[in-house]
Amino acid sequence: MTPILNEALAAAAPLRAVGKVADYIPALARVDPARLGIAFCGADGIVHGAGDCDEPFSIQSISKVFTLALALQKLGMRLWERVGREPSGSAFNSIVQLESEKGIPRNPLINPGAIVVTDALIGAEGDADAAIEALLAFVRERARDAGVAVDEEVAASESETGSRNRSLAWFMKSFGNLDNPVETVVGAYFRQCAVAMSCRQLARAGLFLAFDGRDPQTGLEVCPSHRARRINSVMMLCGHYDNSGEFAFRVGLPGKSGVGGGILAIAPGHGAIAAWSPALNEAGTSAAGAAALEALVERTGWSVFF
Ligand code: GLU
Repeated sequence: MTPILNEALAAAAPLRAVGKVADYIPALARVDPARLGIAFCGADGIVHGAGDCDEPFSIQSISKVFTLALALQKLGMRLWERVGREPSGSAFNSIVQLESEKGIPRNPLINPGAIVVTDALIGAEGDADAAIEALLAFVRERARDAGVAVDEEVAASESETGSRNRSLAWFMKSFGNLDNPVETVVGAYFRQCAVAMSCRQLARAGLFLAFDGRDPQTGLEVCPSHRARRINSVMMLCGHYDNSGEFAFRVGLPGKSGVGGGILAIAPGHGAIAAWSPALNEAGTSAAGAAALEALVERTGWSVFF
């Protein structure tokens, strides 16, 4: 795999100059746009990496995949009464659809949808810290790395600049689609966005989604196969906001991007791939990260549409 990963990075490297690093908080704005890394984890659980694959970055919206898996574990199909599973065709933090659709967000991978999922995860217990601990425990176990943690500086900046996310949350609260207090829910949401992981950790953490919900190394069922399939379908259709069609067209794998420049992609039956490069296209997906995944799929034939 290592030569293939190196080839993918070489193909993607020029794209670093095309995008723009997220600058809504200083901790993201100061990340070097030249960084580029990729990692692949296959059925044997061994992680192969290239470039800046060991450097932790802010996973941001990639966390939405893990909170979705946990909330489905907690609530099962009842979660879908509060959030849809249709592509939104709009920006990650858009508020317009929420009004016409009565506070039910289009899908769990846009901000309002993820905020509802986090509320569901906090549940009647009302304990946001416990929800974040559950997320960290899940991700650490899946990544085989107890060191995965929240970058509290990023979390604090998310909160300082979080007016739009608070607006989304209040709007949903007015429709009765938020059980916990807005500050409790967005506080947890800001911390989940601020989890820092490397490509290697992320690829290992996403592995269960490539193997019907099982950890292929241990055989452990992380989630039932029908759930892994559904999470993958939501990632395919909704994982990149209004850039999801373009990502499916070019890469053809379920994926989730974050404004930290990371992308987690799932190649069913083959493995999980994480790419990272901080400069983003207009929709907020890593320009070079998507190009690296496109090159990898061209080389391996792993698109689900082949
Ligand atoms: N922290 C960002 C926000 O909620 C996450 C967006 C993203 O990664 O797409 O605004």
